[in-house]
Amino acid sequence: MRVEPGDDQYDTLVVGFNQRYRASPEAVHVVRSTEETVAAVSEAVRSGKRLSVRSGGHCYADLVYHPQAEVIVDLSLLNRVSWDGERRAFLAEPGAQLTDVYETLNRGWGVTLPGGLCPAVGLGGHASGGGYGLLNRRNGVVADHVAAVEVVVADRRGGARAVVASRESRGDLGDLWWAICGGGGGTFGIVTRFWLRSRGATGDDPRDQLPRTPERVLVNAATLPYEGLTEESFTRLVRNFAGWCGEHPSAEPPEGAIGAIMIAPHKAGRQIQMLSLVEAALPGAESALREFTTYVANGTGMQVGPSLPMRWDQTERLLSSIEPRTMWHLTERLAVKSAFHKTPWTPEQCAAAFRQLTRDDYANDTSRVVFYAAGAQINTVPEDAVAFPHRDSTYVVTYESFWSQPGEDQAHVGWLRDVYGGVYAATGGYPIPGKDTAGCYINSPDPDILDPEFNTSGVPWHAFYFGNNYARLQRAKRRWDPGNVFRHSLSVRPD
Ligand SMILES: Cc1cc2nc3c(=O)[nH]c(=O)nc-3n(C[C@H](O)[C@H](O)[C@H](O)COP(=O)(O)OP(=O)(O)OC[C@H]3O[C@@H](n4cnc5c(N)ncnc54)[C@H](O)[C@@H]3O)c2cc1C
Repeated sequence: MRVEPGDDQYDTLVVGFNQRYRASPEAVHVVRSTEETVAAVSEAVRSGKRLSVRSGGHCYADLVYHPQAEVIVDLSLLNRVSWDGERRAFLAEPGAQLTDVYETLNRGWGVTLPGGLCPAVGLGGHASGGGYGLLNRRNGVVADHVAAVEVVVADRRGGARAVVASRESRGDLGDLWWAICGGGGGTFGIVTRFWLRSRGATGDDPRDQLPRTPERVLVNAATLPYEGLTEESFTRLVRNFAGWCGEHPSAEPPEGAIGAIMIAPHKAGRQIQMLSLVEAALPGAESALREFTTYVANGTGMQVGPSLPMRWDQTERLLSSIEPRTMWHLTERLAVKSAFHKTPWTPEQCAAAFRQLTRDDYANDTSRVVFYAAGAQINTVPEDAVAFPHRDSTYVVTYESFWSQPGEDQAHVGWLRDVYGGVYAATGGYPIPGKDTAGCYINSPDPDILDPEFNTSGVPWHAFYFGNNYARLQRAKRRWDPGNVFRHSLSVRPD
């Protein structure tokens, strides 16, 4: 279906989840098959139009909806999930939203993916950039489970065609599969199919091809109110969280299966919250989770609740509906920054964050610093196994702001820059890959990284997102998209 200005759906189809960005393309192609995708790309390439690609529409930045986009290929209705016996893998289309992917995989086969919590994120962008959530210590990132992809690429004669590349492919096709698994969306072509099978999976039983869904998990919620919170307690809390992650790098269960997220909003949000969980059936699960929460809360005043057993699907549904505004409503404007960490924040970094979180001249309960436990299974995969390079960090921090009034853009983006710039002040404003930090997450794209006013580190943007994998990504780009048809501000450059 081709939608043009003036058509009924046009307004709906030129904006994603982030209301800050809007495009005004000549056409949006809402495609329902590989053939329609090939036709849409061919038409755009032959007429020299600038393309944008959308699946779930949850890009944080303007990588899809921007003023230069002349044609948008929208894959949101290409969204089936099924078992493909011939390929011994689950076939999942890019427009499938994570909630549907999880539900179908779980109800059909009792398996899952270790992806994000936000239900409406699309598999297309998520898997292309990595994809992590509360099961990441147990099962790695989503990109680790992509066995093959069908990609519509622009060919040298200005046309388009679909190719299939897999984990078993060698040469150029091997590079394409590898690049799609973490090299960032909108860069090499349009993925029209993902086949999902974990690394090392064997046999023909679908239930053995992806991580088994933990039937029940123990879920723990802990809170620390801002009232009376000192910089010292905050520092201790943050360093405890990071300290536990650093001391438990192994994927060995039960510790290796613990997932945790700690959200420190601006003090307008009243309290810091931590949610942690572990598969209930694992021997020692309950005491491991208790030790984790005790370790993090130690000396901080954090109130730790009881750990409650829940079915995994209940847990997922609950978590994905706790914050409908930031996860579901189409009213929010947002910005994000990210950092992979190997060592605990220094006291100076804690102080810088605490200053911003407790500022009196700024208030927003959805401006926040979010800590995710990482490492474990993620780090069992070699850095160059797929393009997603972050295999030596133990926790990830995202800096997020959500707001709804256009007139407030500057205030919230400014706060985000202040907190991030403060935390990484000692390394040029960004978490340079090295002893303590390990770059940024391409699925939390941050256009400021290109701006020497904010990134004074002298380290090029791609080193943060792709580390040592950038050279091979460029090789894949030169082979599969030499004309740079698929591009945005943070896509791999051919040269
Ligand atoms: C509220 C919210 C919560 C989030 N939570 C998490 C989380 O818990 N964990 C996590 O890892 N990430 C999370 N993310 C980030 C999310 O993983 C990325 O934004 C992801 O890229 C979104 O994918 P999408 O298909 O929905 O987005 P889109 O906006 O459709 O696309 C994102 C990027 O991928 C490209 N792309 C999309 N589809 C294709 C395709 N089929 N082929 C090639 N390129 C394509 C686009 O061109 C764009 O560059 C969250 C984002 C939001 C907004």
